[in-house]
Amino acid sequence: MNEHSPPRVAILGLMLESNNFAPVTTEADFLDRVYLAGDEILQDLGSADPILPTELRGFAKEMDALAEWSPVPILIGLVEAGGPLDQNFFQLAFNEMKSRLVAEMPVDAVYICNHGAMITTENKDPDGEIFAMVREIVGPDVPVVATLDLHGNVSQRMVSAADAIVAYRTNPHVDMLARGKEAAGVLLEMLDGLKPDVAFIRLPITPPTVTLLTEAGPYADLIDYGQTLIDGDVFNVSILGGFAYSDTPKNGLAIIVSSRQANGSAQRAAQKIADRAWAEHKRYTPVLTSLEDAVQTVCAVGADEKLPPVILADVADNPGGGGNGNTMWIIEALHRAGAKGVIVGVINDPALAAEATALGKGARFDAVFNRDNGDEFSHRFEAEATVVRLRDGECVGRRGFYAGRKMNLGPTALLDLGGIQVVVISVRTQCADPAFLEMMGLDIGAARAVVVKSRGHFRAGFDEFFGPDQVIEVDAPGLTSPILSRFNFKYLPRPVFPVDQDVTWPAPA
Ligand SMILES: [Zn+2]
Repeated sequence: MNEHSPPRVAILGLMLESNNFAPVTTEADFLDRVYLAGDEILQDLGSADPILPTELRGFAKEMDALAEWSPVPILIGLVEAGGPLDQNFFQLAFNEMKSRLVAEMPVDAVYICNHGAMITTENKDPDGEIFAMVREIVGPDVPVVATLDLHGNVSQRMVSAADAIVAYRTNPHVDMLARGKEAAGVLLEMLDGLKPDVAFIRLPITPPTVTLLTEAGPYADLIDYGQTLIDGDVFNVSILGGFAYSDTPKNGLAIIVSSRQANGSAQRAAQKIADRAWAEHKRYTPVLTSLEDAVQTVCAVGADEKLPPVILADVADNPGGGGNGNTMWIIEALHRAGAKGVIVGVINDPALAAEATALGKGARFDAVFNRDNGDEFSHRFEAEATVVRLRDGECVGRRGFYAGRKMNLGPTALLDLGGIQVVVISVRTQCADPAFLEMMGLDIGAARAVVVKSRGHFRAGFDEFFGPDQVIEVDAPGLTSPILSRFNFKYLPRPVFPVDQDVTWPAPA
């Protein structure tokens, strides 16, 4: 680094969690959400309600607090989880990153803000492509730090290209800001001469999403154990559960340990964590509630005010995992059973929201859900409904995952199906924030049951209404079902638990 001028730190990233079984993610999806280049990035960082990834905001904030630095904004894209990225658009974004970085050389350091579970229609490791491109351009001696979602799938290529990788440690992800700050601290140490020693071990376990909570369960125990190994030498332990539905050869629970000294301490710590993870791998088996039992509970709770209310998570149709947010199994069963005091949110059906908007408040009509039939899981459901309330879908997240983030759910309608109130939206979004229901005038505290299209992030948003004992994870069909044996995986390294039951892991010598 030049002795007299502040270090120039390049910032770039392309964040997508790809479900190989979901529809292709396109340029339009990024343009709808976040796709900023050059100075646009700095403008957003300085704005009152930024749309940039939270960890990037944390990174910049910490750099500002700790050092003189010159941010060199390259390109940042972020989108809701979806299918494989259209290869043409990936190539376009990749080329844009590359040419902008080349034009900014020399830089003193690079921060890569990626998710880690992206695939394209033709490539199983586009995150690795980005990491390797950065390393090739900046050369071996310029520090490169990356943050990843704990659902990222890690390749050796990614680990080799970066000097340090910092992954989220909480699920729901409420530590994104903290991990961005941590990455900044690591980068500053590297600018002072630190060259981390990094160990990487991947296990033949693809944990179903519902087994990756960090409040309790096998993953919580493993993350906690990993943190006990941090000392003056080992400075970061990242354990990534990964995202099974990406269906890649690099899938598998990944352990990345970084130490200050190259004395084998990182490798020893990684080995200890791997041994413990493997000893407990059978715990990564999902336990769900059948639809019949869930409906029975909702009806019982609706009939008896003394029973605590419940929240049903439609874990198999989670937009945050690539689901369409429009499957009807739960709502249909509750309607048939005559359930009372139920709120369902948020159903992604632009055509229905548009029709309700055209009919106007108070209109009574036959609501047809999924008239366009999106995919094999989004079947048609028809019910008599009243339009209770209409809105444009603009809101700011209130609690948890989306807290403080500006969101747009598109034209939104609250429909009353008689005993069941449904919030219908137009931009596919995970129901992780109570604000999505409250903006329609709904009183969540008064409901007997709430149904959310979310796998786990709803927990951090709705925890003021529902404790862990009031959560019911429902086993319905869908693109994000935790029952992995229902998927036709083609590229996972096999055998892998729990897709396969008979798996051995020989600890490397
Ligand atoms: Zn995640």
